[in-house]
Amino acid sequence: MDQKLHILDKVFRPLISHEEIDKAIDRVARQMNLDYADCTDEHPAILLCTLNGAVIFVAELLKRLHFPLIFKACKLSSYSGTQSTGSVRTDIPLSADLIGRRVIIVEDIVDSGATIETLVSQLKGLDVKEIRICTLLVKPEVYKKSIKLDYVAMEIPNRFIVGYGLDYNELGRNTRDIYVLDDTKTDKTMKYYVLFGPPGAGKGTQAGSMVERYHLCHLSTGELLRSEIAAGTPLGLQAKALIEAGNLVPDEVVEGMIEARFRSTKDVEGFLLDGFPRTIAQARALDAMLARSGESVTACVSLMIPDPLIHERIAHRANIEGRADDARPEVVSNRVKTYHEKTEPLIEYYRQAERYHEIDGVGTIEEVRSRIFSVMDQF
Ligand code: 5GP
Ligand code: MG
Repeated sequence: MDQKLHILDKVFRPLISHEEIDKAIDRVARQMNLDYADCTDEHPAILLCTLNGAVIFVAELLKRLHFPLIFKACKLSSYSGTQSTGSVRTDIPLSADLIGRRVIIVEDIVDSGATIETLVSQLKGLDVKEIRICTLLVKPEVYKKSIKLDYVAMEIPNRFIVGYGLDYNELGRNTRDIYVLDDTKTDKTMKYYVLFGPPGAGKGTQAGSMVERYHLCHLSTGELLRSEIAAGTPLGLQAKALIEAGNLVPDEVVEGMIEARFRSTKDVEGFLLDGFPRTIAQARALDAMLARSGESVTACVSLMIPDPLIHERIAHRANIEGRADDARPEVVSNRVKTYHEKTEPLIEYYRQAERYHEIDGVGTIEEVRSRIFSVMDQF
């Protein structure tokens, strides 16, 4: 298995051979056969497979388990699209006949543990008797949750892997060995900056010089949307009504637009995201989007100004630019309210990820700019 694997723009090299994987699964199965020996046809265990990644692992595991069990599958759509609530949706829902059962969750890989945590909390609501977790792989450097991983076949370093059921952009699942992203040659990593702050904080004003200094592509969701609106596309018409009422445009629309730009933009050193993510759900979707290619958010650069200044600056901007969504005070108030309720929680999100960098947005354009540069120069 010394062959490299080429998928889309990436090169992967072999990490774990199928012989090693087989041995690890043998070990885990042996232990499970002991622990579940008292299962009967009347009281079988439930083997709950998470699709799609665990598909090869679970098939290999099934062949080795000798106690009575019922096979089930579920699918968690990483991060919900339609609402901005941050809730995780199940594509294949858990059925109610798990009540009183001993459930074994079978996962391909536990990374941050967010998926496992969601699944376990859903199962707890279904009155199951016992929940155990079996995973082919875990990244111990990343997994910091308290949920116990009962059966772990193999531990791997914090690297992006594919194969044996795991994908890169849905490709590469169909290999019998496990491969790791070969980043020896891709040392030029893209930067992903989230430009954060309340409406009127000066994001639009500062973006230009940030883009120029760090060779970034400026992705302003507001502007992407306004250009759709101006072009009168179906998406634009849908967005128009929502924006005019001071509401947010559905997550999946915005996420789709952003991901398309990531893929189509060439010859930049990174992206400056302006107006996205706006909610925790979007932030998770962004993380998931980047994780698929072994990337992550570089930093959240946050411009902070106090509330009274928000209103003052927006009123000023309405006079200069004549933006319809800036003109009416009740629309502005609604946007500030939406910001506090749905967007502000992102501060904590990025703080926990140790990606949060706050900059005082009060002062002249030049003062704020030099504060921003002194933060961004370090990346
Ligand atoms: P978590 O929710 O624990 O952060 O991540 C679990 C899910 O993220 C996995 O089920 C898998 O879909 C994806 N994932 C995490 N790490 C990797 C990786 O290295 N390679 C691939 N292909 N997917 C991964
Ligand atoms: Mg999975």
